[in-house]
Amino acid sequence: MPENELTVADLSEGGLLARIFPRLASGADVLLGPGDDAAVVAVPDGRVVMSIDTQTQDQDFRLQWNNGYRTTGYDVGWKSVAQNLSDINAMGGTASSLVVSLTMPPQTPVSWVEDFADGLTAGIAGLGAAGCSVAGGDLGRGREIAVTVAVVGTLNGLAPVLRSGARAGDILALAGTLGRAAAGLALLESSVPLEALTPEQRELLDSQCRPTPPLAAGPLAAAAGATAMMDVSDGLMRDGGRLAQASGVLLDLDPVALKMQAQALEPAAALLGADPMQWVLGGGEDHGLLAAFPPGVQLPEAFTAIGSVRAVDGGECGVRIAGESADTVGWDHFAD
Ligand SMILES: [Mg+2]
Repeated sequence: MPENELTVADLSEGGLLARIFPRLASGADVLLGPGDDAAVVAVPDGRVVMSIDTQTQDQDFRLQWNNGYRTTGYDVGWKSVAQNLSDINAMGGTASSLVVSLTMPPQTPVSWVEDFADGLTAGIAGLGAAGCSVAGGDLGRGREIAVTVAVVGTLNGLAPVLRSGARAGDILALAGTLGRAAAGLALLESSVPLEALTPEQRELLDSQCRPTPPLAAGPLAAAAGATAMMDVSDGLMRDGGRLAQASGVLLDLDPVALKMQAQALEPAAALLGADPMQWVLGGGEDHGLLAAFPPGVQLPEAFTAIGSVRAVDGGECGVRIAGESADTVGWDHFAD
């Protein structure tokens, strides 16, 4: 950091907020935005769908990665928004407003905080959540950077899509991608320098630092009659296992669909000597949507079939690959 760089310690809280507020998006559902003790938001649907998520420096991201990449405030702002909007999406809802808590060391540059606010706004716009806004927040001091975002949204008059509704015979489908963020994380942690990466490999870093969950897909799935849904934030095997458990079913994955996801990751996997299928099955943070649809339903455009839902038949709930257990296929370390 340059010696004359303005830091958070140089400004009062009011001074810092005055630099943040103009950078934040505001939407129609926020009746009273930042500046008072609390925000007031409208709830047109009569119900609120809400969620919260935290990112902590050195737990969820590093400011400086092994390969030389430096995480920007913009990255952290974008990712905070993406993770939270994705959870509302996974219920079939649409996010309407966020509150943001940012804790940071006093030597944090003010430009980093401004960049963070820009990342929040860009994430909302770039992910297609126009109308969602930052209704308020909190600034605090701490030993490292920590961001907590809470989000509220609307269900657009529909029932929420739960994890527990999948039934034998349903089609299992995915919107978005699998394994890209995990491949990006492996590149960040590798000793392959940033400058040596191809544009395609740089895009994998972006998938980790600024994920792009398919936000239009959740409400479309709900409207199409999805029986169960969740976003894949901890990996297909682990999250699929949770959906299978909640629904009391088996999820049978189609290896051909999995291989198609893995294909795009092959150059990065070759560079690192990794198995791309491990990223596809075990990697989270792309925030794709895993959903079950009744047989015969035309899948919304964003979705591709990746398997089917089967009855347990006396065995255990869980995820299979072409009918085989992950154990047999050799991926048991992804099964919870
Ligand atoms: Mg989730």
